Amino acid sequence: MRIVLFGAPGVGKGTQAVRLCERLGVPHLSTGDMLRAARREGTPLGIEAGIYMDQGKLAPDALVLQIVEDRLEQPDCRQGFVLDGFPRTEPQAVALDEWLAEHGTPVDRVVQIVVAREVILERLSKRGRTDDDQDVIAKRLEQYERLTEPLIHYYTARGVMHAVDGLGTPDEVFERLVALCQ
Ligand code: ADP
Repeated sequence: MRIVLFGAPGVGKGTQAVRLCERLGVPHLSTGDMLRAARREGTPLGIEAGIYMDQGKLAPDALVLQIVEDRLEQPDCRQGFVLDGFPRTEPQAVALDEWLAEHGTPVDRVVQIVVAREVILERLSKRGRTDDDQDVIAKRLEQYERLTEPLIHYYTARGVMHAVDGLGTPDEVFERLVALCQ
């Protein structure tokens, strides 16, 4: 099963992605985690991405695509995966589709976790990560709404788009998610 988890920052994507991967026995591909790891290691790619991350901006598509395609080539991705935080722009979605089509392994489901904007703002202001300052949060939401949300239309047109309500306990949200990812 190849799944894309989709949603604004703060909807609980990361938590749900980890649980879903455990349940399905597939790797968790989080571009945020990959970029933070590259940054810790001090690679040129990590250093460049860090400049954007600190401002709440998306890292350049070419850079993110490089890191994702390297990861998708790994043998553990052959049985499926959960993508978390990718694709985030239309060029990323197109590139992912092309890559997967070449390998004969299209995306099975794109699932959006839906949470109201006010709830997201409240959750993010409590999280305390370095990119969770008020200005940076506002910027990240703006980038999500402008660049990422339009992908809903892209995937709806391909017949793979689903949504789950992200309000409730993590267990409740997880059960909704699992029901869609059988
Ligand atoms: P969140 O879901 O809370 O926004 P992530 O850990 O997914 O956090 O991402 C953190 C930062 O990493 C983003 O604000 C962005 O700068 C960068 N990033 C992660 N994934 C991508 C991506 N697919 N394209 C561009 N930038 C990305």
